[in-house]
Amino acid sequence: MNEFPRRSVSSLQTRRAFVRNLALGSAFVGSGAAGNLAAQIGEATKGGERKLGVALMGLGYYASGELGPNLLETKLCRLAGVVTGSREKGAKWSRQYGFPEKNIWNYDTLHEIAGNPDIDIVYVVTPNGLHAEHVAKVAAAGKHVICEKPMANSARDCDAMIAACRKANVKLSVGYRLHFDPNHIELDRLARERDFGLLNRMSGEFSWTFTDRAWRIEKALSGGGPLMDVGIYVIQAACRGAMGQPVAVTARELPKTNPTLFNEVEEAIEWTMEFPGGVTCEASSSYARNADRFRAEGPKGWIQFAPAYDYRGIETATSRGPMSFPVVHQQALQMDDFASCVLTGRDSPVPGSMGRDHMAIIEAIYRSAAEGGRRTEVRRG
Ligand code: NAD
Repeated sequence: MNEFPRRSVSSLQTRRAFVRNLALGSAFVGSGAAGNLAAQIGEATKGGERKLGVALMGLGYYASGELGPNLLETKLCRLAGVVTGSREKGAKWSRQYGFPEKNIWNYDTLHEIAGNPDIDIVYVVTPNGLHAEHVAKVAAAGKHVICEKPMANSARDCDAMIAACRKANVKLSVGYRLHFDPNHIELDRLARERDFGLLNRMSGEFSWTFTDRAWRIEKALSGGGPLMDVGIYVIQAACRGAMGQPVAVTARELPKTNPTLFNEVEEAIEWTMEFPGGVTCEASSSYARNADRFRAEGPKGWIQFAPAYDYRGIETATSRGPMSFPVVHQQALQMDDFASCVLTGRDSPVPGSMGRDHMAIIEAIYRSAAEGGRRTEVRRG
């Protein structure tokens, strides 16, 4: 499957930029998420320390198409093993990425990773409903863990995952790659520095046409439909624009055009998030159309992204004109940042608690939709 329709980035690279780029570049380099990474990499690799070994768990679309190739771009990590249900596939990865076949585990032998000095971090890239069990097993094996989004199927599961990692004294972060993308880091800066005033009106949609019969529409494995899969990106962006969590939501599931396919999860959903101080975000997500946008507006101007959530080729415009940012390897930056957290002891900017907060919002959205659009408070952790 292709979560994000691919676009050429050449137009982004060549078109004449609205030249606040210098300011943007420095905002990116100096930002909390990606910022200081260069310095930390220098510090962490002083004296020729080895790169941290990462094992990818679940070799599907995202691991194969993005995380594996991005590991080749990292400065602090290397692919050192895999966890897969297919020995054959694991052997192919071992040849392709040059790690020993002894570092191929399956879901039943995962505990044997414990004590293997090649592996420092396990990246869980399995279906959402398996994340809680898989993260707990990785923590029990004493390895640091990155868990793909959405973190789990419930906030309660997220709490258990956070507790398991704390008990095992390992770090936990969520695969929120857009925290390492300069376009979205500019949203953080605008929210913080208020160039456009308080960003009090936001809107966004992330939708894609999904017609496969796969785990994404099986409730136990997916936790829900497009809201869990891609609507979560609108939630992330809105929380960044508002610099916090919504206090309440109202939501409405849209009528199904294909009730046979979407018999366990929603096909499309709309929701409104209310943040403190009168800040709102109107959002939607669907498996029956394509849309990829986000906008945040204040009394003095606006910023918008379209496409907004892609791996590459995010296009940003503001009321002052278009903006252009360096094209980055989001996942490489994300994994290097986590490695630097492991090496330096620093907290991840995308920790388990953030994944948990977003799950609490998702739960409130589903509760509101189930109760006819009742205004529903978001439960605090
Ligand atoms: P996928 O179906 O392509 O891959 C899932 C992998 O899990 C497969 O290798 C499959 O064999 C394995 N698996 C193990 N147990 C399974 C089971 N019981 N049922 C089905 N598969 C099982 O899915 P994907 O698109 O790679 O998504 C995996 C995770 O990554 C999801 O949590 C998804 O939300 C996340 N994801 C994140 C991004 C991102 O941009 N951050 C993009 C795509 C997917």
